[in-house]
Parts: sequence; C-alpha cells; structure tokens
Amino acid sequence: MRAFFNPDQLLHRPRTRLSGGELRPTVETPERAERLLEALRDAKVDVTAPGDFPESCLAPLHDEQYLDFLRKGFEEWSRNDGNGPEMRASAHPVRTRARVPRDILGRAGYYQADASCVLMADTWSAARASAMSALAAADHVLRTGEVAYGLCRPPGHHATRDLAGGFCYLNNSALAAQMAVSEGRRVAILDLDVHHGNGTQAIFYDREDVLTISLHGAPEDLYPFYSGYADETGIGAGVGKNFNLPLALMSGIAAWQEAMERARSAIAAFDPDFLVIALGLDAFARDPFACMSLRTDDFARLGEMSRVAYPTAIIQEGGYPTDELGTNLTRFLDGLTG
Ligand code: ZN
Repeated sequence: MRAFFNPDQLLHRPRTRLSGGELRPTVETPERAERLLEALRDAKVDVTAPGDFPESCLAPLHDEQYLDFLRKGFEEWSRNDGNGPEMRASAHPVRTRARVPRDILGRAGYYQADASCVLMADTWSAARASAMSALAAADHVLRTGEVAYGLCRPPGHHATRDLAGGFCYLNNSALAAQMAVSEGRRVAILDLDVHHGNGTQAIFYDREDVLTISLHGAPEDLYPFYSGYADETGIGAGVGKNFNLPLALMSGIAAWQEAMERARSAIAAFDPDFLVIALGLDAFARDPFACMSLRTDDFARLGEMSRVAYPTAIIQEGGYPTDELGTNLTRFLDGLTG
C-alpha cells in the first residue's frame, strides 16, 4: 500500500472555530495530519509526496470564480486595515445566492457556508496540496491496481462546486473519483465520516456515472443539518445513485455494521470498477465531536467490511486529535487490506 502527503498541507493553521456561540480553539489543526503520518510511519507504510497535477484537474468539479476566491481572497481581505489573520464571513446570503458581490466580505459570505472554513494566508497552498494527495492516490490506484491512501488535510467532503464549509475547501474525494471517471471508470464513493458528505452528494447528485453513499449521524441532530436525509436519492440521470444511511447519535458498531451491509449491497448492485473511500475517523467515541460510540477495534471491522474486489483509493476526511487517532487509521487500513 502506498500513501501520499505533501508537507505544504500543514501550512493552513486556523486558530478558532465558532463553538457554543464563542470563538474557541479549532480542532482542525495540522496536528491531525502529524498524528496520522506518525502512525503510517510506525506501520511501515511508504509515504511519498504527490506529484504536481495541473490545476485543470480541479476545474471539472469546482467553479473558476470560487477557485479564484480561494487563491486570492485572503490577499484582498488583508489589504483592509483592521482585518485579522482569519477571513471569516459575517454575512451570508442564506437562501438566495443569485449574485456574486464585488466586496471581499460579501464574497466571503457567498463562498463560505459556515464559520469553520476561514481563509488565511496559506489556506490555498494547503488545500491545493491536499487535493494533489487525493489525485496522486487515485492515479496510483489507476496505474497499479494497488490500494492507495491520500492523507488529505484540510479535508474535502463538505466542499461543493462553489462553497467551502465544515473545514473543507476542495472536495478531495470527489476529485479522486473524477480522475477515475476521466479514465473511463465507473466509480462508487463510500463516505464513512460521521458527518454527511454533503459536498460530494451535491457534486454528483445529477450524475449516473458516480454512485455516492454516505453513512453518518442523523442530520436532524448533526452538522451539516440541511442534507443527509434518507429520501435524498438523486435527481435527473442521478436518480437512485445517491444513498444516505443516517444513524442515530451515539450508535455503536452494531448499527454501523448494519448500515455497511446496506452500503455493500448498493455497491454490488451498481457494480463499479473503482471505489473511493472517504474515510472519516470522527465516529470514534473519544473524538472531540463525541457523537458516536465506535472503539478502536471497530475501525478494523469497518475496514474489513469496506474490502471489495475493485481497485480502491482511500481519502482522509475528518477525525480530530485524540491519542488513538493514528491507531484508528492503521486499524482501518489493516482491516481493509487484510
Ligand atoms: Zn466529520
């Protein structure tokens, strides 16, 4: 198995997130990647820097004006005296997004879904490098058939075509999937993060060539709240190609296994020839978000159940600093690769 990571992914160092109505230290820190990296090295997994794929690889899935906002928005923001190191919107369009304003604060509200995806001086460099790790993992699987893991941080599955959200800027899992599609593969995405993969769903919602499945905490009770319901099954050509499997908060491995059985049936019925696993580790009982009851051993079980006959790329999504974060990753990978 090969893993991909670029140290530039550590450059994005957000300080705060809105929690309990107050600005508190964020959990989406470079330390997450450092812990995962250390666990990979302890497990003797070969970690290499991804190649530099052309930015045109981002274009099929992300709006050009949005990419420009991510690239240059912070520089524009910092020209205004008094603006701080984290660009965070204080106004949002809420229901209508018909116009892109000219003012940078207006554009922040237009392109940031929530308060947790601040733009800073090095955010673009880190998000771009994270996307490259996803593309390198997909590319490696396409070339060799071997399982590959993209240590993608910042994560990606809440980012849509033109909206950052939930610590995510570029949709790494979707970009990995699209690379396989561009090589004629039929792709399934299995998202195991505890939060619904709303960005991935939105990107592929009207497409029949990519199956999207997400297991997550019930959105009635958990971010991203406004999507992730079981009756969202796709539109147009994509009808029947999106599966949401919401789970009650604090569910343990039994409920996750039951949902995995349903996911495996849906994947078998779709009969893909490439699988992307959007791997969140935040269903762990001691994760700071504390919304599920999975233990370290349970990640090995989820890994075993994610093992399929198709070439597989694993893309890191959420999972926040705990002593067990790295072990949870390697147990999953061991289960997957047998
Ligand atoms: Zn998550």
